[in-house]
Amino acid sequence: MNILGIESSCDETAAAVYTDEGLRSNIIASQAVHEQYGGVVPELASRAHHKTIWRTIEQALTEADTSLQAIDAVAVTQGPGLMGSLLVGLCFAKGLCLSRDIPLVGVNHMDAHIYANFIEGQPNYPFVSLTVSGGHTQLVHVKGPFDHTLLGETRDDAAGEAFDKIGKILGLPYPAGPVIDQRAKEGDTMFHDFPQAMLDNDFEFSFSGLKTSVMYYLEDQDDQAGFLEDHLDDVCASVSRAITEVLVKKLANAIEHTEVDTIVLAGGVSANSMLRQKAQTLAKERGCQLHIPQLAYCTDNAAMIAITGYMMAQRNQFADMNLKPFANLASK
Ligand code: ATP
Ligand code: MG
Ligand code: FE
Repeated sequence: MNILGIESSCDETAAAVYTDEGLRSNIIASQAVHEQYGGVVPELASRAHHKTIWRTIEQALTEADTSLQAIDAVAVTQGPGLMGSLLVGLCFAKGLCLSRDIPLVGVNHMDAHIYANFIEGQPNYPFVSLTVSGGHTQLVHVKGPFDHTLLGETRDDAAGEAFDKIGKILGLPYPAGPVIDQRAKEGDTMFHDFPQAMLDNDFEFSFSGLKTSVMYYLEDQDDQAGFLEDHLDDVCASVSRAITEVLVKKLANAIEHTEVDTIVLAGGVSANSMLRQKAQTLAKERGCQLHIPQLAYCTDNAAMIAITGYMMAQRNQFADMNLKPFANLASK
């Protein structure tokens, strides 16, 4: 079976082809237009998707050395995401399906982040996923394919959102997550103890207070000329420690509670080197198998949509032409 996957939930226009032989192509057109605004502007995102979607799909087909005629089903992100962005991908996918009379598969973007781990690995069920991205921070108990129980999630900001907002306070470009990660490698993680919230709660998170505490901390150092220039790496390292320590503590709680022996990381923040390292240490301590997608499959991509669509198509989980996008689509 040959699946064309389309992703357009946020600011990445992406297309990929997944077949019985595995992933055949994975094309991403990132939208540079948002950089100057320090965040994604929804209206501009929809327009950019519209402009690049066909070119991106053509490129994915060419790179896979195939054509639309050989595609058996189209998998597309149904949500969660920005409504206008989702509409562009979904309507385009429906058009392709109608023109070729092939079925449509509606994919949950957060499920796809998890199943990105199957592109190059084969995690054993049941497992726990720490899904950490720009809009979500979730601990999910995955008992079998598409059999998910949400153990807990963030009450306010997502981990990626925390990295990005703190980066903005530090004067770093958007998205700041990867920049803070790089800076942190040169800094002292123990330079400052930023607060870790909700440690008395097993599986829920809160990151909005951290952002505020970084702001007050910098205000307190106002009298030291050049403080931030001198200590940017140290602040990045300390912030990274605060975020990743709390993520891994709650992941440890989830392993204990569910008694799984396999864990996976998913979403853009799973690209974070400190998180990857801490998760490796935890897995070793607990005798767990750990799966982390390679960097290209952590942040938004269509390979994860295509593989999830492939798994759904094999289970006959097709959608009809009434499929609607949902900005807050929950995992089943
Ligand atoms: P969602 O998946 O919740 O809808 P999204 O699709 O916007 O949100 P992703 O593309 O999965 O999110 O991830 C983007 C986020 O990952 C951004 O917040 C970005 O800063 C963060 N991120 C990417 N690389 C790193 C890194 N190395 N360290 C920390 N954060 C990172
Ligand atoms: Mg993005
Ligand atoms: Fe995402």
